[in-house]
Amino acid sequence: MKKIAVFNSGSSSLKCKVFAYPSKELLFCKTIERIGEDGAAVQTHSEALEALEIDFASLDGIGHRVVHGAEHLQESVLIDSDVMETIKELIPLAPLHNPANLEGIEVAVKKAPHIPQVAVFDTAFHATMQEEAYLYALPYELYEKEGIRRYGFHGTSHAYLTKEAAKMLNKTLSQLNIITLHLGNGASACAVKNGKSIDTSMGFTPLEGLVMGTRCGDLDAAIVLYLQNKLGKSREEVEHILNKESGLKGLCGENDFRKIIAREDKYAKIAFNIMVRRIQKYIGSYIVLLEDIDAIVFSGGIGEHSKLLRDAVMQNALLKNIEVLVIQTDEELEIANECYRVIKEKV
Ligand code: ADP
Repeated sequence: MKKIAVFNSGSSSLKCKVFAYPSKELLFCKTIERIGEDGAAVQTHSEALEALEIDFASLDGIGHRVVHGAEHLQESVLIDSDVMETIKELIPLAPLHNPANLEGIEVAVKKAPHIPQVAVFDTAFHATMQEEAYLYALPYELYEKEGIRRYGFHGTSHAYLTKEAAKMLNKTLSQLNIITLHLGNGASACAVKNGKSIDTSMGFTPLEGLVMGTRCGDLDAAIVLYLQNKLGKSREEVEHILNKESGLKGLCGENDFRKIIAREDKYAKIAFNIMVRRIQKYIGSYIVLLEDIDAIVFSGGIGEHSKLLRDAVMQNALLKNIEVLVIQTDEELEIANECYRVIKEKV
């Protein structure tokens, strides 16, 4: 039996799961929260690693979640100093995530330098998108010089859902045409053709696309300029509004979907209806791109648990004959699978 640990390192949390291979049995799961916060027992990621109380010597590999790999790191890789340097160089593209991901890697590499460690990227599944999908209609040099393009996120989840859907539908990946919907606090849709991502709703950052818990999703870019120029909002204030005060929360005052669907007032209904309509718009455009569709997959806390939301989305004459699959996503297991595969191939 081999043991693979997965680390998902956020700015104030470190989540760890350990799986046995080849059985994929979950052996261990622990999350250290409030890292570095006032009064918290654990102040650094290094201390968090100790607080997990794992026997590092018993591990055969460690998989790390990394949000942004951009065009430099388009598939899971064995971590070395070059890979760590590249993840560092990509911080401007993912300032909220890559620093914490990198910190998790650095402390784990220091603690267990002899154990092979693998980085698995949220962007990787979408590396198969073509230019028509990933380029914005902006001056081309902004893509060439600054890397401004759509990257897509939640890729680990969309990849997992794709493989699970193939099993459930008894198809090979190359035969599979589906739309996957990851609907949690963050939310994204992905058009999967012949098992590969051909388009996705998140873009240059995880802000674009569907209505999310606190993020606005698609927006006329001129609104950002209006907020700054007409209303005098600072860059930080605009960032805060778009990321933390918008989406469901902006529309009805809260982002907990369970509470929203329990409410009867007009704001809760508007929030629900706008979210549903945005999902339908993406489904409609993706069906045109796919030309043929086997199923729509719902996942994430909302997609998985809210039949009300699923029924509202599917209540449309064009969608009535499409199969609906509800699948519980497991990003950590997908990262562990990738880690196990890369180690088997490369070590
Ligand atoms: P995250 O993106 O933070 O991982 P989750 O995938 O756990 O989030 O999804 C969180 C969302 O799922 C919340 O809005 C929560 O209210 C919603 N949710 C969880 N359980 C249910 C349920 N039984 N019915 C409706 N919504 C639910």
